[in-house]
Amino acid sequence: MVQDFSSAGEMVDPFGRTITYLRASVTDRCDFRCVYCMAENMSFLPKTEVLSLEELDRLCSAFISRGVTKLRLTGGEPLVRRDIMQLVHSLSRHLESGALKELTLTTNGSQLAKYAEDLYACGVRRLNVSLDTLDPEKFRTITRRGDLNTVLEGIDAARRAGLKIKINTVALKDFNDRELSSMIGWCGERGLAITFIETMPLGEITEDRTDQYVSLSGVREKLMADWTLEDSDYRTGGPATYVRVKETGNRVGFITPLSHNFCSTCNRVRITCTGTLYMCLGHDDAVDLRAPLRASDDDALLQEAIDRAIAHKPQRHDFVIAPGGARPAVARHMSVTGG
Ligand code: SAM
Ligand code: SF4
Repeated sequence: MVQDFSSAGEMVDPFGRTITYLRASVTDRCDFRCVYCMAENMSFLPKTEVLSLEELDRLCSAFISRGVTKLRLTGGEPLVRRDIMQLVHSLSRHLESGALKELTLTTNGSQLAKYAEDLYACGVRRLNVSLDTLDPEKFRTITRRGDLNTVLEGIDAARRAGLKIKINTVALKDFNDRELSSMIGWCGERGLAITFIETMPLGEITEDRTDQYVSLSGVREKLMADWTLEDSDYRTGGPATYVRVKETGNRVGFITPLSHNFCSTCNRVRITCTGTLYMCLGHDDAVDLRAPLRASDDDALLQEAIDRAIAHKPQRHDFVIAPGGARPAVARHMSVTGG
């Protein structure tokens, strides 16, 4: 008998965690080549392997029918995917129905000037924009090809459109670690929240990870020389811990996947643009959803595969950056699963 999954219940993993947050990578491609994220010469997936926009819509909608209330589109760079606004527009029906509480994106900001108003019109209210430095030369170096001004114009356009922005900054040793304090000031002047992220050992890159890694507990101490950081119990259910900057009134987050364990409250899973479901950013275990998605027009096989996957969500990640080694703990790049 074919089971009816149209009203299948919420997704609860073996450790009692209910999955309510889906991050969907809509492309592995990007117009930047950030040194901690990608190799200089990346080979991207052939288009045939990548889910169509309709398939991505169907996949995301299947998760929403199982209790996902927060959906983040990411990549690669989500806004370089051709016709991406068709997907955003189509997914916005779940905001209208109330099934989805939030539809959001993580973006490098390069296309924001073009899309900010459309995103707002589709019900997007918040964006994460990645920005590691405010120095144009350094920006070019870290992204290998990005233009800082274009991104800053994109951020301005998004603010004008009414979008709330959180800046994500990867802390990199001897690159931007001395600039982080002034970035708090820059964000403070614009009313933007900022989150600092430690580098994670994902995917082979040309640089040595141990050269890039800087511990955020050290960063936090240095910031306290310039700013009054007040403890905050603000949580998003994600890995960040937060403080409030007394002088600006803005929030600063710290994502420390290597030095802290945030797994016990993990409510998220990730899908790649090929329809592979990763239950944990820090593990290679995955379940293919593309085959069941393409096998039939109804979602029974797909929902079965989702159930199998959730039953295998690992309890915790185990990232380690081995001294002297560039070998990643997890073989895939961040651009495959998105941030
Ligand atoms: N292209 C978009 C962007 O840059 O915002 C979305 C995808 S990107 C993979 C998502 C986030 O992952 C970015 O904030 C980026 O800085 C972060 N990221 C990429 N590789 C990382 C790594 N190895 N360690 C920590 N963060 C990483
Ligand atoms: Fe592209 Fe984002 Fe990776 Fe940078 S971090 S290369 S912008 S996907």
